[in-house]
Amino acid sequence: MSYEAVIGLEVHVQIKTRTKMFTAAPYHYGAEPNTLTDAVVLGLPGTLPVLNHTAIEKCAKLGRMLHCEIAEQCKWDRKNYFYPDSPKNYQLTQNEQPLCIGGKVEIELPGPSRNIEGAHRWVALNRIHLEEDPGKLTHEAFDTVIDFNRAGVPLAEIVTEPDLFSSTEAVAFLNALRNLIIYAGISDCDMEKGQLRCDANVSLRPTGTDDLGTRTEMKNLNSISNVKAAIDYEIARQAEILDEGGAVVQETRRWDVESGSSFSLRSKEEAHDYRYFPDPDLMPVQMNPARIAELDAELPERPLDKQRRYQEALDLPYTITSVLCPNPELSNFFEATLAVYPAPKAIANYIANDLLRELADASEHGASALSVNDCKLTPVHLATLAKIIDTRGI
Ligand code: ADP
Ligand code: MG
Repeated sequence: MSYEAVIGLEVHVQIKTRTKMFTAAPYHYGAEPNTLTDAVVLGLPGTLPVLNHTAIEKCAKLGRMLHCEIAEQCKWDRKNYFYPDSPKNYQLTQNEQPLCIGGKVEIELPGPSRNIEGAHRWVALNRIHLEEDPGKLTHEAFDTVIDFNRAGVPLAEIVTEPDLFSSTEAVAFLNALRNLIIYAGISDCDMEKGQLRCDANVSLRPTGTDDLGTRTEMKNLNSISNVKAAIDYEIARQAEILDEGGAVVQETRRWDVESGSSFSLRSKEEAHDYRYFPDPDLMPVQMNPARIAELDAELPERPLDKQRRYQEALDLPYTITSVLCPNPELSNFFEATLAVYPAPKAIANYIANDLLRELADASEHGASALSVNDCKLTPVHLATLAKIIDTRGI
């Protein structure tokens, strides 16, 4: 039988703030373990949470960037579970009344070749809610060690509708989402640093039918290539079960990078009963419509809108816009240069071809890639150079 895959993603993004979601303890990646904690993070008796206003605003801004409606009121629920990564024995999250409702993300599917633009479509979101990140457990040979630095970091969970139909679409979605989040200044989305993490829900149904099949949820997908590999593995695994006349079991599975396969963590029967209830220490949050309108006005142009504008208004080819637009640093550099010397085609070419090649060469000698903001060439330099070349000064 031929099957259609149906995929829904749950994407966790750490919101870039100076301090944590419910306390003034700071957070930054790479600090000495357990140095960025305080009594609230460690869940010591008698402590009370205090809301981080910036985290709420940034999550609302993310929501608007993703075309969500912002709820008039959101509130905090306790998700109760006992696990060493959560010293309070509950996680503060938004179960019943999330901050952002609905939403959609425009994705670009791969074209027939790298140089040809693919089809675009919208992927529906269900919601975005705010919660606190748990601590990080690392399993070593004989011990499991815990780092609470990450505990309490504001986390936006973006939940899609089951509206993706292949691993390729899931990858296109994650790339589009990543660009939008970076543009909005919510997070740098470095998956290696855990700033963006993804769980994938996968089910199959006979091609041409509408009902959803039984799904499994894959955890621990910490790179986009792992998301793709885990989804493809799961599609093949479920198809084999169904072909043999079996039934897929609803369960949570863990992706194992080493073996390139997944194994069952827990089935639906073993699933936690989280006993959600409203947190008695935190007031519901009322959102001010006037403030939402201000956030709307601050939203940057979305990357795919920018790409269309460059192609239509500046007549730039897709091969160039697809290089400049996903990266806000590059497109800002381009526009700053254009403001000094308005020769879009020449300048776009110098940036997408020559400048990027030089930056890549320069980074070969160092550890990390040289970004356009770290290089000594400024938009004024490039504008001046372009002008000299145009007037045959060189
Ligand atoms: P839970 O509360 O158990 O996490 P949700 O209903 O919130 O479940 O769904 C979580 C994610 O799973 C969403 O992204 C949703 O789109 C996706 N999903 C739900 N049912 C299916 C299904 N049958 N096939 C694929 N994805 C699904
Ligand atoms: Mg879930």
